[in-house]
Amino acid sequence: MKTIDEIHEKISRGEAVVLTAAELKQRIAEGEAVTVADVDVVTTGTFGIMSGTFAILHISIANPGTFHHAEKAWLNGVPAIPGPCPNERMGSVDLVVFGTSRAGKSYGGGHLFRDLVEGKEIDVTVETAGRYISRTVTRADIDLARLVTTRSGFMNYQALINRNPGTVHTIFSVRGLAGPYREVSVSGCGDINPLQNDPEGNVIGIGSRILLNGGPGYIMGPGTRSTREHPNIAAFADMWQMVPDMMGGFVTADGPECITSVAIPIPVFDDAILRSLLVTNTMIPLPISDILDRTPFAASHYGEVWDTTDTIITYAPESCLQCEPCQAAAICPVNAIIPGERIDPLRCVHCGTCIQECIGGAFSGKMGDVTVNSRSIPITLRQSSRENALKICNHLKSLILEGKFRITGKCGDLW
Ligand code: SF4
Ligand code: SF4
Repeated sequence: MKTIDEIHEKISRGEAVVLTAAELKQRIAEGEAVTVADVDVVTTGTFGIMSGTFAILHISIANPGTFHHAEKAWLNGVPAIPGPCPNERMGSVDLVVFGTSRAGKSYGGGHLFRDLVEGKEIDVTVETAGRYISRTVTRADIDLARLVTTRSGFMNYQALINRNPGTVHTIFSVRGLAGPYREVSVSGCGDINPLQNDPEGNVIGIGSRILLNGGPGYIMGPGTRSTREHPNIAAFADMWQMVPDMMGGFVTADGPECITSVAIPIPVFDDAILRSLLVTNTMIPLPISDILDRTPFAASHYGEVWDTTDTIITYAPESCLQCEPCQAAAICPVNAIIPGERIDPLRCVHCGTCIQECIGGAFSGKMGDVTVNSRSIPITLRQSSRENALKICNHLKSLILEGKFRITGKCGDLW
């Protein structure tokens, strides 16, 4: 048995052993007998589309007395909800912006959140008493920016297939999900996902300190639709401490969605906690459902998604045919492709869409298949990035070892 105070002391003395979940599993796969004495903290993480995300902002718009109160508002065209505080005649607005709100087909709340964190200029418009007041703002004009997730870190996703002829335009596809049985869309980072490594909630709970989009935050409790069998969390964090490439927008066939990342440290107090950390991809079921009714009709596991595949998609510019326009760049859901040159590593989420779209075969990466009734169906889209989740696990590990992230115990149970 170890205590949180003993782990803190080891960290301050520079003696703590902090491993990412992937490093721990690698050691065990290589035959190492890891005990509680050998590891103090394991960092877990997940990165992907998480629709249940919203921001609370307080923004100065005009001089006090300029308007009574805002009735409607938009940020870069993304609709926002004024209130609940009316800020009567203060010249400022409290705004709530959903990560899934849309300014059009290719820009939404998730894009806006990243632009805000990157310090870009944002156009704000409020409607008040039949007139419109607009202002361009930056971070300096926003004295509070807080991100809240209502449902993040799912423990149980479904792989999705279109079993009928034709294409279904859905948020679970970038090009439209083609059927019948032509492709599979998957989500989830497998055995490095936080809740997957503590399914009993032994250390993850209300009050646990986490990284939300790379910035320090806290778990509020279970998220919407969270159940004991299929848990998720709700969390919050200050946006101004977030890291831009750990968040953003993602354009699906049904419009913009929001990318969110979560990293959670798991202090290894005892054997029960260590046992939970031994979960592997092949042990984690992945139900396969039809996109239209979401009822599972087959089953796979995360070994098929992550164990024999490439987490990184690569680009060979020498294979590029310089076609005009570049179809891959046009459809990349995060606008990460510079045709003929490179993939922007700070934007790419390794989803695999470009592999399908590029006529020159310039993109490569093994995406894998799932097996349905003895038939292999190719995975064509990953809406979670294990590669980026590994990065946030490493980021959290560095912060802990440098004494920049203090681990807290939970103050209440999730279940
Ligand atoms: S589609 Fe492929 S080959 Fe054509 S310009 Fe784009 S990257 Fe090059
Ligand atoms: S894998 Fe390709 S399509 Fe997906 S984000 Fe990266 S560059 Fe864009």
